[in-house]
Amino acid sequence: MQFIFFAEGSFFIIGLHFYFKQDTLFTDFPFPENYMNIAILKESYPRETRTAVLPDNVGKLIKKNAQVLIETGLGNAIGIDDSAYASIGAKIYDNRSDMLSEANLVLRLRKPALSDLDLLSEYSVHISYLDPFNEKEIIEACVQKKISAISMEMIPRITRAQKMDSLSSQASIAGYSAVILAAERLNKIFPMMMTPAGTISPTRVFIIGVGVAGLQAIATAKRLGARVDAFDTRPVVEEQVQSLGAKFVKIDLGETGQTKDGYAKSLTPEQLELQRQGMAKVCANSDVVITTAQVFGRKAPVILTTDMIKQMKPGSLVIDMAVESGGNVECSRINEDAIINGVTTIGVSNFPTQAAYHASQMYSNNLYNFVDEFWHNDKNEFILDFDDEIIQGCLITHNGKIVNSKLSE
Ligand code: NAD
Repeated sequence: MQFIFFAEGSFFIIGLHFYFKQDTLFTDFPFPENYMNIAILKESYPRETRTAVLPDNVGKLIKKNAQVLIETGLGNAIGIDDSAYASIGAKIYDNRSDMLSEANLVLRLRKPALSDLDLLSEYSVHISYLDPFNEKEIIEACVQKKISAISMEMIPRITRAQKMDSLSSQASIAGYSAVILAAERLNKIFPMMMTPAGTISPTRVFIIGVGVAGLQAIATAKRLGARVDAFDTRPVVEEQVQSLGAKFVKIDLGETGQTKDGYAKSLTPEQLELQRQGMAKVCANSDVVITTAQVFGRKAPVILTTDMIKQMKPGSLVIDMAVESGGNVECSRINEDAIINGVTTIGVSNFPTQAAYHASQMYSNNLYNFVDEFWHNDKNEFILDFDDEIIQGCLITHNGKIVNSKLSE
């Protein structure tokens, strides 16, 4: 049972929780002790413009009888004002410390600062990207504080969890954004044009790595009228490439394969060398090369050397989408252009922020779907189910221990 008091009209509504879009709504009504306080933090990472949870999903959490605590300015970077959250019943905080000390579930996008973890109560649940293989200090702090830390990137890629899969949702946006950036920066148009002033050939785009980002990049480049080639070490993607109207480049690398989660296995140095030799000619004939090749939990392989770039035509573009995880291109630098013999290599970090609103919308849905999956309506609570495959995959620490089998390995 909850109470909502409207100043205007002076009446009480007693019964099931619901809300009105009115500025006069007071939300500091008492919640029973066992109600979940869900804190949603504003991202503080430099140049991060995404927002973890949009008002639509906050509304759904409030309908589940949760109390939602919002850090002031949460949605400012994508044009969402605090009032959009306040008007549906969220409590707005301008003091992170107060907010985190009241929270028992935290939702955010980027990994937490150690100082944020310090402010959390023991046994609270923290859900965000965590980069658990590299962030030893954060994991150790979660162990010390007995925080149940959930890593969004470790949600298993099974059919039931597709709606929670933020790696895929953000990679789709990234693949699209990379092609749009290439179209903007290239001194050519993408489609073929037959005009009285002559015929213009379509731009040739080569996509290396055909996971989620690569597939979206192929689809976007095809929509813009480019001629597209693509390569991946996993032979199973050949059919997907062809179904999008692109050509799959065949290079015999011997045994490659993929893990049971669908990820590529690391190539040997000899296989990587064979791959470079096989791709050099395709790169040389391309106007745009976009690399997306990654190996989960490891540094990205270097597949485009400076020598290969020197063989490309001046004016061509290379976009290294793996620049943040080590880089697929020898000369690429984060958020810098590298120009060699007139070929520009662009290393953009955090491509999803190029379309921050839709990237936020998708991430917000991923987070909400995750919380919803483990929400018990009878108890108004998010409960970790340790027998569930999804929780087993993404829960990293719990009750003062590392509980994730992949991490322990
Ligand atoms: P990713 O970002 O880890 O890597 C991108 C791509 O790079 C992958 O396709 C990988 O094979 C490729 N790659 C690695 N080394 C390479 C090299 N040397 N040369 C060329 N390419 C190389 O991958 P991702 O986008 O996260 O997707 C991995 C797989 O998981 C895909 O098949 C995807 O469809 C699958 N997936 C399945 C589900 C599901 O629910 N079943 C959900 C999401 C993704």
